[in-house]
Amino acid sequence: MGTVSTSGLRKAFGDVQALDGVTLEIPDGSFFVVLGPSGAGKTTTLRAIAGLERLDAGTVHLDGRDATHDTPAARDLAMVFQSYALYPRRTAYENIASPLRARRMPSDEIATAVERVAGLLHIERLLKRRPAQMSGGEMQRVALARALVRRPRAFLMDEPLTNLDLKLRVEMRTELTRIHRSLGGTFVYVTNDQVEALSMADQIAVLRDGQVQQVGTPSEVYQRPANQWVAGFVGSPRISLLSCKASGDRLVGSEGWSLPRPRWSTAEDGRPLLLGLRAEDLSLEQRGAAQLPGEIYGLEPLGDRTLVDVKVGSEMLKVKARATIGGTLGEKLQVTVDLDRAHLFDADTGLAVP
Ligand code: ATP
Repeated sequence: MGTVSTSGLRKAFGDVQALDGVTLEIPDGSFFVVLGPSGAGKTTTLRAIAGLERLDAGTVHLDGRDATHDTPAARDLAMVFQSYALYPRRTAYENIASPLRARRMPSDEIATAVERVAGLLHIERLLKRRPAQMSGGEMQRVALARALVRRPRAFLMDEPLTNLDLKLRVEMRTELTRIHRSLGGTFVYVTNDQVEALSMADQIAVLRDGQVQQVGTPSEVYQRPANQWVAGFVGSPRISLLSCKASGDRLVGSEGWSLPRPRWSTAEDGRPLLLGLRAEDLSLEQRGAAQLPGEIYGLEPLGDRTLVDVKVGSEMLKVKARATIGGTLGEKLQVTVDLDRAHLFDADTGLAVP
């Protein structure tokens, strides 16, 4: 079993409210990602689960049992830090074996366990080296192997891929999801990288200023963001927002445009709204009933695609267009909107409105 739940975690450091009521239900066996910008309280949440942080309020339950006052060791969790925290004088083998030695496992069983996890992480050839003889990426793998060599109740991982170069990071994402699938077990994984979260998680909790903004599957968080902030934080390029109001069967923009009201929208007339449009739900080529007039403000070729900044009055839309789109700065055009995939937010509260 490996269920982890927190309820109403609160922690202040001086004037900073690092955790402001964090409640999470992490199912057994899931790959659960805590996503948020720097300073959101991700590390503090993980440390609270691990028992490394004295809380002002709140509880931590492990497998349904109150573990709030248990020592870190009694919680039986394995933690991987961004900084590796390897023993510098020990070889990779000895580093990976250390949690098993501490539990007095017989050395032949240790050897079997270390070899198995070394194979899983493709680090067999590093086992005799010391940290000083390894690259950052290699040390990171050894640190992961040391966590994965045991079968703890859950694995806690604090941005374990941040020190890797981009290519290795992308590879390790796939590796980690593969390892999760083959080992099983509960992974609680902290990151500020939304691509990492979307690509690896079963479930994502989005954290901001010590508060959970939304919990959901990657597609729920991406396609049905709970508020304007989540919509802006998740997704690249950033979602475009246009101010508007509903009026009968139309949406009327502050910049003078008008679109049919999305079929799903029941927003009351006259209430200030923000229309959220993702770059891939806008088109410069197709024609449809829902069109916004604008002019090209910027072109950013990405190889397979071109990102086009389109100015709509004083507001800006980002459109993902074909690489061969052409177009010149200042050119006037129509942007076709897929209204079924659009989002509406209350302009005052930022909350999603149906
Ligand atoms: P990052 O992605 O930068 O690691 P984070 O989301 O993990 O950020 P935390 O490290 O949990 O954020 O920190 C949350 C807030 O609490 C931040 O404002 C941070 O400066 C503050 N904080 C964390 N630990 C301490 C501490 N030991 N003393 C004082 N302030 C702290």
